[in-house]
Amino acid sequence: MSGDDRVGFLGLGIMGKPMAANLARAGFEVHAWNRTRAKAEALAAEHENVVAAETAAAAAAAGGVVITMVPDAPEVEAVLLGPDGAADGFGSGGLAIDMSTIGPTAVREIGAKLGDRGVAFLDAPVTGSRPKAEDGTLTIMVGGDAAEFERARPLFAAMGDLVLHVGPLGDGALIKLVNNTLAAVNTAALAEGLAIARKAGVDTDKLLAVVASGSGSSKALELKAQPMLDGDFEPLFKLEHMHKDIARFIQEAAAIGANPKVSAKAEEAYREARDAGHDGEDFAAVIEPIATKFGLK
Ligand code: NAP
Repeated sequence: MSGDDRVGFLGLGIMGKPMAANLARAGFEVHAWNRTRAKAEALAAEHENVVAAETAAAAAAAGGVVITMVPDAPEVEAVLLGPDGAADGFGSGGLAIDMSTIGPTAVREIGAKLGDRGVAFLDAPVTGSRPKAEDGTLTIMVGGDAAEFERARPLFAAMGDLVLHVGPLGDGALIKLVNNTLAAVNTAALAEGLAIARKAGVDTDKLLAVVASGSGSSKALELKAQPMLDGDFEPLFKLEHMHKDIARFIQEAAAIGANPKVSAKAEEAYREARDAGHDGEDFAAVIEPIATKFGLK
């Protein structure tokens, strides 16, 4: 087994766990580390070629490549560059791949710090929620050096079906923020439409049938309308993460002198949902404070 057949995986949450499992199924030896160690031990118990690593540094020391799948830039930086972080474990020629959703400015800063320690870096965020992580059919958009992308391609192939090298370091992150901002805006608008239709007493089954075949259709409608109507907010993608993504998009826009107003209104809707205690629920719960405001609660 060569160095790159052993991969460290840091962060076994909703997404990380099935992604690491697919790497194991594809034959990679996965050295899994998670802040809450029991999750790494559980994954190791389920898969012969998963080892629960003691630290992020130990996961990196096992092979040449480490993948991170944690909430945001501070956590990526902590597990890669903090005490016992992956950078402490890499030998020469190490490669860190962040698949979390973080801002491109943070990607470039982390990339520079890793570069100072001789570690290459790719930003490789994903779209597709837990079902696509489980099926290995994620879309993966990769920013960074083309040769490092080619080196990582077999890993990406085990987790995704559409895998694209999109440009230099940070471009994957920016594309991902645009995608999620569109999803967040669509979902917030859908929440308003459904809440108003319900308040007006309209048959929502008929409404969904019409909109699904019309110009108002969207992935948000396909994936989130029924959970919103059913009040089923089991998290596939946590609301706190969707709010983080739209907030990062607005920050990145501000950094280049732009002020995206539609996104800002949607950001407010997710912030209000966080304030109302929906952080850990699916982002479909953005409908809850909207429905309350419209007098439906
Ligand atoms: P999640 O279920 O909340 O998992 C977060 C993971 O990060 C857990 O393993 C958690 O460890 C770890 N973590 C949290 N804080 C940490 C810290 N301070 N230090 C070290 N580890 C820490 O999140 P997720 O849904 O898997 O999302 C992960 C990333 O993927 C996020 O950037 C998200 O925006 C992005 N993403 C999510 C989806 C989706 O549909 N869910 C889709 C595309 C992209 P513990 O187990 O100890 O809590």
